[in-house]
Amino acid sequence: MLQTLQQNVEAVQKEVEQACKCSDRPLDDVTVICVTKSVDSETTKQVVDLGYDHLAENRMENLIEKQDYLKEYCQIKWHFIGNLQRRKVKSIINQIDYFHALDKLSLAQEIQKRAMKRIKCFVQVNVSGESTKQGISPESLINFIKDLEDFDRIEVVGLMTMAPFDSNLNELSHYFSQLKILQTIIANKNFKHAPCTELSMGMSRDFVPAIECGATFVRIGSRFFES
Ligand SMILES: *Cc1c(COP(=O)(O)O)cnc(C)c1O
Repeated sequence: MLQTLQQNVEAVQKEVEQACKCSDRPLDDVTVICVTKSVDSETTKQVVDLGYDHLAENRMENLIEKQDYLKEYCQIKWHFIGNLQRRKVKSIINQIDYFHALDKLSLAQEIQKRAMKRIKCFVQVNVSGESTKQGISPESLINFIKDLEDFDRIEVVGLMTMAPFDSNLNELSHYFSQLKILQTIIANKNFKHAPCTELSMGMSRDFVPAIECGATFVRIGSRFFES
């Protein structure tokens, strides 16, 4: 098990390096977030021991359980990547370092009310227009970000997206480049509350094209844990 994990880590690392090289980017531009939602606390610990200190979960209960199990490892940065219900904000928002799925003002209001410090948030954008996807439409994005100025507990560090599952390589590059364009537009506005320098895009099946299009955070789960 550990041996497979180690091999998967090496394979992913090679592909990340290759993608950086192909797109002329320094390796330290890209942070790999290990998505541990499908594995137990012990496996999560193995991943940390193999050198990953950015971890992501999409369920509050699992994140809290793993934080407790790994409490000696104070270098870990915790990312919350899922849909977060308003009533759960209170229990989780002060436990995490990054929140990847901000897409509603009502959620921003709740974060503002419950957060005890400024929370690094990614605004989730639905670049593909798929009706089943979470996220704000590209057309509403600028106004949404302007509206977030009222919330001093929210720092918009960047944009996040998920590509449709059945996208081919051309489509993936199109969606990821669109997000990069939007991120650049917002960053150039120099909003104090929204530096928007980061791009969270790319998962196990599409992190290579995401890096080639400018991802600064990739969220990889199954590739690490497959056997
Ligand atoms: C599960 C998940 C991932 C990781 O997906 P893999 O295909 O397992 O790499 C990334 N981002 C989000 C939002 C997820 O829910």
